[in-house]
Amino acid sequence: MIAQEEQILQTYFGYETFRPGQKQTIDNVIQGANTLSVMPTGGGKSLCYQIPGLTLDGTAIIISPLISLMKDQVDALQSLGVHATYINSSLSGREQQIRLDDMTAGRYKFVYVAPERFESPIFINALKQVSLSLIAFDEAHCISQWGHDFRPSYRSIVPNLQKLPNLPVIMALTATATGEVISDICALLQIGNDRVVNTGFERENLAFHIVKGKDKSTYVRSFLAEHTGESGIIYTATRKQTDSLYDLLSKRGISVAKYHAGLSEEERKQAQAAFIHDETTVMIATNAFGMGIDKSNVRFVIHYAMPMTIESYYQEAGRAGRDGEHSDCILLFSPQDIQLQKFLIEQSLMDDVAKQGEYRKLQAMINYCHTHSCLTSFILDYFNDNPTGGNTCGRCSNCLHRQERVDLTEEAQMILSCVKRMGERFGVGMTAKVLKGSRDRKIADFGLDKISTYGLLSAYTEKELTEWIHFLTAEQLLATEEGKFPTLKLNRNSVEVLKGERTVWMYTAPIPTHGEADYK
Ligand code: ADP
Repeated sequence: MIAQEEQILQTYFGYETFRPGQKQTIDNVIQGANTLSVMPTGGGKSLCYQIPGLTLDGTAIIISPLISLMKDQVDALQSLGVHATYINSSLSGREQQIRLDDMTAGRYKFVYVAPERFESPIFINALKQVSLSLIAFDEAHCISQWGHDFRPSYRSIVPNLQKLPNLPVIMALTATATGEVISDICALLQIGNDRVVNTGFERENLAFHIVKGKDKSTYVRSFLAEHTGESGIIYTATRKQTDSLYDLLSKRGISVAKYHAGLSEEERKQAQAAFIHDETTVMIATNAFGMGIDKSNVRFVIHYAMPMTIESYYQEAGRAGRDGEHSDCILLFSPQDIQLQKFLIEQSLMDDVAKQGEYRKLQAMINYCHTHSCLTSFILDYFNDNPTGGNTCGRCSNCLHRQERVDLTEEAQMILSCVKRMGERFGVGMTAKVLKGSRDRKIADFGLDKISTYGLLSAYTEKELTEWIHFLTAEQLLATEEGKFPTLKLNRNSVEVLKGERTVWMYTAPIPTHGEADYK
């Protein structure tokens, strides 16, 4: 006999089998155990609360910060003949009251609400009178201050839940959670360690690419010419960049839409609808676009500039390929991107401690752009989740360009010894200048033109030297102390390289060899 949940999967939703993690999550919840599910985007988290919601008696409350998604989910459930509704600020006060009354009368199996709803005593009182089947926290990482999208209103639900005498089983679902976010969610929502269902983050249909040293708009134009008719998103770092890229591409007759917070609600709605319905295949947008966009056939996501954190990069890039088909996630990197992100951190209203945290995350993002290791593994490692055990994905740009390997050990030794001679007190820019033998006033002011490593790699451009220093940092062969002006420091790996106990391989075009030098 097929278990009840399998029957619901087949008869209601028309799917044959569960995806990884779905059954375990559903079983936990039906047994009454609070549960956290970490599944990649497109992994099928909605079914994890929809099936228990249909199986258990009473009303399921789904809390989601994504107002735009609520209506779609409710429409989908209603089309399956399920009584579902949403209550949020997009409705008139009267309509909200009607739905609240219907909820109190137990007429719904599912009620979707935004976190702010829990600040309303009327809503809490109504909840007390309903027989509840479960409460689900969608996008649960927003509850944690360690998460990249912390929402205080989400966290403040927790004390309000204690007021419910009829508190049902609680579920938390997210696609992005680091170890510390997972612990935070579990502590807050009283979820036992053995009730964390973590299927990992890896999306095997996504291929990550880093593109450097190319003119970005030329790259985008030729990429689009080769991918006509394919749906894709191009994320820019600023509204201004969205506008200018939009103008440039539309002038060339390419059908594009744009979306950012500076446009009117109507303009945004239209652009979004045109993209969702495939009337315009390419969307140019800031990160204001995408939360709650459920479009399955996005074939590529291009980042026109480096975002601030790996969390936001993975979430934005992860909007590609929700249908499971092969899709590309391309990051166009230029060194100016780093300056812009630092500027944004400095401009923010965060206190110094929070800024320090952001600098740490930014450094990881910079490392991603400079690593020569597998990009997929880099991301999985970042989230403490590496099911490939350090293996390579074979799909990313680093894996695909692995054949051109050069030995950079000598140059690395020169760089590391220069960092040491400079007293481990300076950043990437100054170190590159010293190695180049730059006549910059600052170098002379600090007396750095007198040290033995001054001009040691003068055959290279400052840009190349900067790139190598970033590469050594990304490969953990050199450490940085985070902050607005991160200083370079040696670590245990650096010492191994300096002692000649470790070879440094680089996977790019060959570098000319050098004569002997006093650098050790
Ligand atoms: P998430 O919220 O995890 O990003 P969704 O719940 O939106 O993902 O599901 C993504 C897609 O996968 C949806 O179209 C959904 O109908 C489909 N899906 C979910 N579970 C299954 C399953 N067991 N078999 C096939 N398709 C599924």
